[in-house]
Amino acid sequence: MAIRFANNCSNCVNLVENAFCSKHEVLVSQKYTCDQFDMKAELKNERSCTNCNKHETSSCAHPSKAAPGMLCSSWAPSA
Ligand code: SF4
Ligand code: SF4
Repeated sequence: MAIRFANNCSNCVNLVENAFCSKHEVLVSQKYTCDQFDMKAELKNERSCTNCNKHETSSCAHPSKAAPGMLCSSWAPSA
């Protein structure tokens, strides 16, 4: 199973100045989420073979297909 970014306030585009939700106009924390969660664009684009911890290792699920811009369900974050 792939490891993913959490759908929580700390990864939401509506979070401003670290703790304020611009959608609901309240203070929130990384513990929370809601139905208006919207993943930050830079995080959406961050997952690919080039920053996968398994890239060019024996753990890669698809070594012959791994390439920049590609992604599979075995993606794992680098440290
Ligand atoms: S409360 Fe909802 S909209 Fe506001 S920052 Fe958290 S997930 Fe995003
Ligand atoms: S093919 Fe999958 S496991 Fe291999 S580097 Fe790409 S995302 Fe990681």
